[in-house]
Amino acid sequence: MRKCGTCSVCCLVLGIHELGKNPGERCWRQTGKGCSIYATRPRVCRDWRCLWLQGRYLEAERPDRVGFLVAEVPPPARFTVETGLALFNAFRAVPGKLPEAGQELFDKIARKNIVTLDGRVYGPPAKLPKALEWLDREAAAEKANGT
Ligand code: SF4
Ligand code: SF4
Repeated sequence: MRKCGTCSVCCLVLGIHELGKNPGERCWRQTGKGCSIYATRPRVCRDWRCLWLQGRYLEAERPDRVGFLVAEVPPPARFTVETGLALFNAFRAVPGKLPEAGQELFDKIARKNIVTLDGRVYGPPAKLPKALEWLDREAAAEKANGT
């Protein structure tokens, strides 16, 4: 079973409502050598598992090594039910270009799935229009509902 080891990308890139932590803000409990409250860390941190930790991709492609993490859109993923496509969100560890190994992995993922990164949507060209149409429709509905 995989372990996070020295990776702490999610403690930086994710917004965690329960901790009052905004996306891209390093959690102040993260010491650089691990979580300072590991034994008593909140439930949201205990339950969170990026796709790499769930066993996807290669062992060597841990988020801190490839420069980004990939997360599944939480179930029930209406996007998948309604479009038949997988939708992942990717979060970059540091702004700018991905390292070479990271770009290779990202391209590999985006060849078969729809992936968002930095507000852009990537995916197989034949499937992108359907995905974009769904995402636009959803954004418009959210706006209309004031959410
Ligand atoms: S990004 Fe994934 S591997 Fe890295 S610390 Fe978070 S859950 Fe663990
Ligand atoms: S509480 Fe610990 S595990 Fe949770 S985000 Fe902060 S440093 Fe990471």
